[in-house]
Amino acid sequence: MTGTSKVVVIGGGYTGMLAAIGVAQRAKRVQVVLVNPLERFTERLRMHQLATGQHLADHRIPDLLTGTGIGFVQGSATGIDADAHIVAVSTTDGRASLGYDILVYAIGSTTDTGAVPGAAEHAFTLNSPHSAQRLADHLTAARDRTEFLVCGAGLTGIEAATEIAESHRNIRVTLLSRDEPATMMGAKARAYLMAALDRLGVSVRTGVSVAKVLPDGVELASSEFVAADGCLWTTGVRVAPLATKAGITTDEYGRIITDATLRSMSHPEIYAVGDAAAISQAYGVIHGTCQSGIPSAAHAAGNIARQLHGGLVKPFRFGYFHQPVSLGRKDAVIQFTYADDTPRRWFITGRAAILYKEIVSSSPITTFRLSKRMAISSRVLASTGGRRNSRATLP
Ligand SMILES: Cc1cc2nc3c(=O)[nH]c(=O)nc-3n(C[C@H](O)[C@H](O)[C@H](O)COP(=O)(O)OP(=O)(O)OC[C@H]3O[C@@H](n4cnc5c(N)ncnc54)[C@H](O)[C@@H]3O)c2cc1C
Repeated sequence: MTGTSKVVVIGGGYTGMLAAIGVAQRAKRVQVVLVNPLERFTERLRMHQLATGQHLADHRIPDLLTGTGIGFVQGSATGIDADAHIVAVSTTDGRASLGYDILVYAIGSTTDTGAVPGAAEHAFTLNSPHSAQRLADHLTAARDRTEFLVCGAGLTGIEAATEIAESHRNIRVTLLSRDEPATMMGAKARAYLMAALDRLGVSVRTGVSVAKVLPDGVELASSEFVAADGCLWTTGVRVAPLATKAGITTDEYGRIITDATLRSMSHPEIYAVGDAAAISQAYGVIHGTCQSGIPSAAHAAGNIARQLHGGLVKPFRFGYFHQPVSLGRKDAVIQFTYADDTPRRWFITGRAAILYKEIVSSSPITTFRLSKRMAISSRVLASTGGRRNSRATLP
């Protein structure tokens, strides 16, 4: 391309921030604009901490972008005209239209509260700092022997249940789930995790399906009513239908389906990264984690720079490395994995795992700062799946 190219990044979470900084660092003659609803950076990895009244560092996006030349627009993208290459944005001052040569779609995902009647109205979520703060206020106001349900025993449900049980001893926490907790882990790491749930007094009820969320409890598929003073919804995932409405090819969760180089299959001038992208590897479609999202953002930035400089874009290769789970503030378990996310024999617990998990949670901010000074490749940020000891064969 000749002249100055415009790159618009929608979503200033972990992946949008890194993609924007990466493009600004690597590409010449480029104008990068980042759009995000909040000026304060949301540390999604710490939403369960916020929900239990913990104080989080106040990272401001404009401060994190200082020195990069990236323009920051505080607002929400409300529409994409994929033919005219224009993003409509709703800002506090009104409406704006941003033209682009290349668009990076990084709007993340939310818990799917639409899957069960009443969940959107009555359940708490960890979808945003606002919703986490609402839960924190509810828990702080709880009386003695309050019953609280955490629906979903995936890693977010486990982290939330243990955090609540540890910090609010007056609350009786029950983890409700169809499946056993942390089925993706190896047997020993799982046993450790189950013992931690037991030690913290979290009741675990599995083999149940929530059919309805009500103001005073939930109704199970068996018609049984489980009374509670509050319920946190952590199951299912969906991406806002921005891309789907614009006619961009998405999957059933609303994620943009990408080719191997992270460009939209239907609109190659759009890159999709993180939770909002459906990225295929030999072992299947990558599921939304920061672990995979950060390398996808670094890779997209590299490809955008290559594309703008007339070079060849490269395929993205990613292999999982770990499943880090906090169990309150005083314990954690880290299951190490093969590239396809199946568990290896190794895992760590206790103090080493707490430290490890803290490094995982704080590393994105460090990565943003480093990326302003040097181009960090996705290979440095990821366990690439080409290792000899990985089970999956990657393309
Ligand atoms: C409690 C919890 C713990 C977790 N722990 C781990 C962990 O230990 N390890 C791990 O790898 N993953 C973990 N995850 C998952 C991880 O947080 C996500 O995979 C990660 O946040 C994805 O990054 P992202 O940039 O795609 O999305 P996000 O970080 O969610 O960022 C998306 C951004 O886009 C913005 N946005 C949304 N819509 C619009 C719009 N229309 N216009 C403009 N901006 C928009 C949002 O406001 C947000 O700032 C955890 C998640 C939770 C909830």
